Amino acid sequence: MKYVSIDLETTGLNPDNCTILEMAAIIEDTKTQLPREQCPIFHRYIDHGNRLAGEPFALVMNSQLLKKTLELIKAKDPQVCTPDNLMTEFDAFLKANGIPNKVLAAGKNFAFFDREFLRRLPQAEKIRFHHRALDPVTLYTDFINDEVPPNMDDCMSRAALVASGKHQAADDAWDVVCLLRKKYTPARP
Ligand SMILES: [Mg+2]
Repeated sequence: MKYVSIDLETTGLNPDNCTILEMAAIIEDTKTQLPREQCPIFHRYIDHGNRLAGEPFALVMNSQLLKKTLELIKAKDPQVCTPDNLMTEFDAFLKANGIPNKVLAAGKNFAFFDREFLRRLPQAEKIRFHHRALDPVTLYTDFINDEVPPNMDDCMSRAALVASGKHQAADDAWDVVCLLRKKYTPARP
């Protein structure tokens, strides 16, 4: 199976009045399970010009990301794009890596959160997502003792994995691959 682990950093929780700051997507082929550096990765910082709508808590949480994005914009870094061309560039990445028209996505809460942001972008119709998405959280839920499904930090510790970083899209997308891999990689004797 090939899936695409997707993570967004956003200016808040409401896709109707918040927006995407950063997007990362890592292609995983469960048959080959390449090391992180060799997995195809799409990574963009979003240039919103001089206006940004969002929620204060998320803007504070992402202040370093905003600072980094401004530096990359200034340096004309190719990892920067606008909301208008994000989906076009993502589509080109998927096609260049042989992902079929219907993308199988993976992520923490992808179907309810990330997808809602992506579908509001210009050119969103270029990308068709499979209705089923992979979410590692259910795999790490303790159905007897948890009141709600665990957060990513708890999933990582239950998997005996160390998180790659905090609130950085590429690290978060990779952590999802690691959590899923743990379930489909046979334990070594
Ligand atoms: Mg994230």
